[in-house]
Amino acid sequence: MAGVEDYLFEDVTITESNAPRFILNGEEVDIWDGELSKYHSLSVADYLRESLLEFEERGTDPFPEIIGKKAEKEMLKNALISGSNILFKGMKGYGKTTFSKAIAKLLPEKILAVKGCKINDDPTKPVCFSCKRALLEDNEVELTWVGRKWVRILGDPMMTTRQLIGGLSIQKIREGYDIDSPEVFTPGRILKAHRGIAYVDELGAIPSAMQTLLHELLEEKQITTPEGDIIPLKIDTIFISSTNPANYRGTADIKEPLLDRMEEIFIGPPETLEEEILIGLRNMRLKDGPLLPDWHLRILARTVRLARAEDGSRFANRIEVEPSCRATIKLFDHVKASALRANREAVILADYGRNYENVKLAMRSRMELDYEDVSKDEVISALVEDAINRTSMEIYSKIPKEEFRGIVEDISELGEINIERAEFSDTEHLFPFVNSIASSPAEYSSALEILLEALRRCTGVVTKVDVGKYECARAG
Ligand SMILES: [Zn+2]
Repeated sequence: MAGVEDYLFEDVTITESNAPRFILNGEEVDIWDGELSKYHSLSVADYLRESLLEFEERGTDPFPEIIGKKAEKEMLKNALISGSNILFKGMKGYGKTTFSKAIAKLLPEKILAVKGCKINDDPTKPVCFSCKRALLEDNEVELTWVGRKWVRILGDPMMTTRQLIGGLSIQKIREGYDIDSPEVFTPGRILKAHRGIAYVDELGAIPSAMQTLLHELLEEKQITTPEGDIIPLKIDTIFISSTNPANYRGTADIKEPLLDRMEEIFIGPPETLEEEILIGLRNMRLKDGPLLPDWHLRILARTVRLARAEDGSRFANRIEVEPSCRATIKLFDHVKASALRANREAVILADYGRNYENVKLAMRSRMELDYEDVSKDEVISALVEDAINRTSMEIYSKIPKEEFRGIVEDISELGEINIERAEFSDTEHLFPFVNSIASSPAEYSSALEILLEALRRCTGVVTKVDVGKYECARAG
């Protein structure tokens, strides 16, 4: 075993002059020639920088999967180009994970690695013992392609060193174990992220002793084994982590030395109603099926936004945990599921549930109140009402002044209106307006309903008889 311990503590660099013969898919290859040269030797930070600068040159967005968040994207680009680790801070459901995945997409789809290596070593910069030995001593080393890596590490107070870092023992080598045996080296989650992105979800939840090990690994590129040996381990990864100030005392649970190695970017809720709607539409499950007219998108997304402090509804400052975009996404799905069951062409207010049960279904588990004198259901109902009022105002303001009288007269002549059965295509004023707000004939019933609701809420010339049934106030 003479010399083995030398590899462990030595940096090994393979160049054209000291390289073994490389075999890829059964054929000898020159990894420094042509196309293959792009898939080794570069670090994760190098790949990210090259890719971001290409996007810059083309003038395109490197993170198209993230809606809005312009300022955050700019900060992120600078941080990554300068090779930094990132800490995303913010409530759950605002896209921290999506952001980290979007960063991983900037890496090449595949890279060259030593075949059989537990951490997919670069053939020119081996980190693990067996690759160091093979590359220095063997005449032939087999290579393989490895896909881009995004390794999620879930922050867990019970996390062990073995899970996070893995097992590494020089003692076992001294006892005669083979360098390849799992007793000598078994990589944990963070080592599996070698040559890719490590995403630590809830960094603050990781025990502080583990955080110290993480810092040692990421910064000093070494680990201390339980037996006390300090082993260099030049793990190459960009470390993206997240923290949710609602679960932890802000970043107080993250150890100072680690914090000092990360750039913090706050990820908040979508800035505009339009962005909130886009996120909902992009992430909902029931993309086909009944239509979800624009006014319903606005009411539902507004209901969620009104629960967040910045929109200043009367309940917002008493909501301790605010609903995230997942509430919006689920709201879109639930009302659509209801319309699908009823075989409707487009969503109508009845799909919210008689007492807004479908809205409550999406919001109850996603918000917490700081008081108990009002129930969560009452708050949600009030938020929906507020959102319908605001959206009704928008519809009402679209009615041309000169058409108002005619529209009300048309409604009056129809008597009691069941919005799903109303025959109004020959009306002189009502139909043209409904047609102007509907995006297709499939939305006529829904558009008629929101117009009647807008007139009821904004003027009182229309009254509601039941869900989906209206009549002119004068007629009653
Ligand atoms: Zn290796």
